[in-house]
Amino acid sequence: RPTPVNVTVTGAAGQIGYALLFRVASGQLLGPDTPVRLRLLEIPQGVKAAEGTAMELDDCAFPLLAGIDIVDDPRAGFEGANVALLVGARPRTAGMERGDLLSANGGIFKPQGEAINAGAADDIRVLVVGNPANTNALIAASHAPDVPSSRFTAMTRLDHNRALSQLAKKTGAAVTDIEQLTIWGNHSATQYPDIFHASIGGRPAAEVVNDQAWLENDFIPTVAKRGAAIIEARGASSAASAANAAIDHVHDWVNGTTPGGWTSAAIVSDGSYGVPEGLISSFPVTSTGGEWEIVQGLEIDEFSRGRIDASVAELVEERDAVKGLGLI
Ligand code: NDP
Repeated sequence: RPTPVNVTVTGAAGQIGYALLFRVASGQLLGPDTPVRLRLLEIPQGVKAAEGTAMELDDCAFPLLAGIDIVDDPRAGFEGANVALLVGARPRTAGMERGDLLSANGGIFKPQGEAINAGAADDIRVLVVGNPANTNALIAASHAPDVPSSRFTAMTRLDHNRALSQLAKKTGAAVTDIEQLTIWGNHSATQYPDIFHASIGGRPAAEVVNDQAWLENDFIPTVAKRGAAIIEARGASSAASAANAAIDHVHDWVNGTTPGGWTSAAIVSDGSYGVPEGLISSFPVTSTGGEWEIVQGLEIDEFSRGRIDASVAELVEERDAVKGLGLI
């Protein structure tokens, strides 16, 4: 039997954590042959609820679940971790200034980056889900100088999946017919879902859609504001689909993307497509051998250029703000 992979989940007692842990333990994150050992990292007030979730995980008798530890100390949380899903974050509350939000999250992601640097396994792979995800990932990465920055990523897979689903609905295609869709930039309202390189059943998606007004006034804002629409409808945030996207992201990172296809993930920029080097921004990506790679050589038209630049400008602002606060 293979050695279990250590998966650390922060914010484990939260909504997303509740939707995520059972899928990790059942083998959907790493595959049906890989046992997992879960480490649940919570703040002290979250430990009791995490213990309740752990009782339920026990009660599933998952064949692949090799053990569960619950901790409230980041050093213990990331010791030996192979995969880290950073879900817990400080949510923005009414009246909160952006600087306060970034400071509060700096207080979470700085010590987590340090703990990952100090104790995580050599093959550590980090996915940040907690918002502002791109900048939280940047903070964690900058406090883990011994870990390659390519191991710190942020989630735009939910945006990608939302875009797939909206495009399928509009065109009557199956989601499996759609390829090479891209989310660019920040996981925020400025993100740019780009269909100009996508194909539907082998035909250019923009040609199948043939409706620029829908693209600008419907598709892009629907994808970008989907989270708010779900809160409005459900009275609670989109936890299950966020957990699903986290599973997709890590699954593809570890097991590879389908040949010829690509997905979207926020990874450290190497300067591709004019995105300043070092920013954690969403790109079209493939994964082979456990490494993300940015899809190269795409032609970016003027419309797309403007949208990408606007989202990247927001990432630059966030980076400068956390720099100004001494968080990176
Ligand atoms: P959720 O589990 O619903 O959300 C967790 C984070 O994921 C939030 O930052 C949220 O951002 C973000 N997120 C990203 N994408 C989505 C999406 N599509 N839908 C919803 N959220 C998304 O939060 P809960 O409040 O239920 O749980 C958070 C838990 O984290 C608590 O148990 C708390 O104790 C814990 N925590 C742990 C920390 C630690 O381990 N050190 C630190 C801080 C908190 P947004 O707010 O923008 O929706």
